[in-house]
Amino acid sequence: MLPDNILIIGGGQAGFQVAASLRQEGHAGRITLVGDEAGVPYQRPPLSKAYLLGKVGAHALRFRPPEYFDEHRIDRLHDSAAAIDRAAHHVHLASGTSLSYDHLVIATGARNRVPALPGIELNGVYGVRTLADADALSPRLANIRNVVVLGAGFIGLEFAAVAAARGAAVHVLEIGHRPMARAISEPMSDLFTAAHRSWGVTLDLGCGMKRIVGRDGKATGVETSDGRHLPADLVVYGIGVVPNAEIALAAGLEVNNGICVDALLRTSDPDISAIGDVASFSSPYADRPIRLESVQNAIDQAKAVVARLMGRPAAYEALPWFWTDQGELKLQIAGLSEGHDQTVLLGSAQSRQLSVLCFRAGRLIAVESVNRPLDHMASRKILARGPSLTPSQAAEPGFELKAYEAATRQA
Ligand code: FAD
Repeated sequence: MLPDNILIIGGGQAGFQVAASLRQEGHAGRITLVGDEAGVPYQRPPLSKAYLLGKVGAHALRFRPPEYFDEHRIDRLHDSAAAIDRAAHHVHLASGTSLSYDHLVIATGARNRVPALPGIELNGVYGVRTLADADALSPRLANIRNVVVLGAGFIGLEFAAVAAARGAAVHVLEIGHRPMARAISEPMSDLFTAAHRSWGVTLDLGCGMKRIVGRDGKATGVETSDGRHLPADLVVYGIGVVPNAEIALAAGLEVNNGICVDALLRTSDPDISAIGDVASFSSPYADRPIRLESVQNAIDQAKAVVARLMGRPAAYEALPWFWTDQGELKLQIAGLSEGHDQTVLLGSAQSRQLSVLCFRAGRLIAVESVNRPLDHMASRKILARGPSLTPSQAAEPGFELKAYEAATRQA
């Protein structure tokens, strides 16, 4: 029997998508969405980009206006899920209420990892995860001079590009030896290093932060791991996230860098699914369980769970893809490049239109494209169908991903 009463914990990208897709697919039963952030569900990507630049307002971030939820009979509760009683099929909320479920979807996302540094509590130190974070940070950007960013990952660098565009002197400290090293290839890291430097950002690689210093409770600078003092009116950190999996762990579900789920995205309790940033899953595109932090993953996993709840179960095998916008650069990534041992470049770093094809043991595993959207769209199709493209084919003069995709589609 298909579950009737569906409870979703977490009103972010994934949780919202479950509720919306359930109604879209004709689920007639009860849908309850419990979220601990105030307001209607909204998208996060602009928080470190267009929203901070003032190019979009808070209303534009909402997935749907408030009336949508009433019209679609989606009960929205602003509360925090405190405990899951699996035997009774109940979730206890922080407010003291408890809710029953036939099926529970955990979509609690992740929270920023807070650096364990002296001075982290000072005024003027921020992470960027929520709309509330961005709203606290945004007014500070109007009249700052010196910004120090800790971490050259996607979010740290997106913020660095925004702060530089708003006229601040920006200094990025990154303990690794190249930016976004966990997610992209060396040639692409090099392109972004050069771009940030051309925008006036100081990118300090191989260097961390020892402490944040301040006066009268307010940050005034940082001390680097190699003993230098950098002035800072504002310190922003982006050193990764921690999955919000505690509630699942306390309920006895299997947790290992996120809530472990099977190919159907079920936790170790078949009446509970987990999706989005909080879920650890096996993918045909990785040789170990992974946890992805991306809009694509949140949406596609939500839709996969809904298909199962509506009686159409299928293994989750979607191709991972991501993007980041920094300055005039739009980087789009199809596939996962971890473990690649060979690259072929199309375009050029100089023109800032480059695609890096990443191969592992001769097999195409990922394509990173900056300002080459056609390459990105073609590579998603090529990767999804199981590519036979070889590095030498890709390196032939005049090779184009779009033409290759069309030719192999017909074959
Ligand atoms: P979330 O969106 O984090 O939602 C989880 C929700 O659950 C949160 O509201 C949380 O507060 C709530 N919650 C947690 N615990 C509880 C509880 N116990 N009870 C009730 N509610 C709870 N991805 C891209 O692909 N491209 C981008 O350019 C991009 N840019 C980003 C920029 C920023 C600043 C950030 C923060 C993320 C960005 N991402 C981007 C990542 C993307 O936004 C996430 O992968 C996506 O939001 C994950 O969706 P989710 O629903 O799993 O988690």
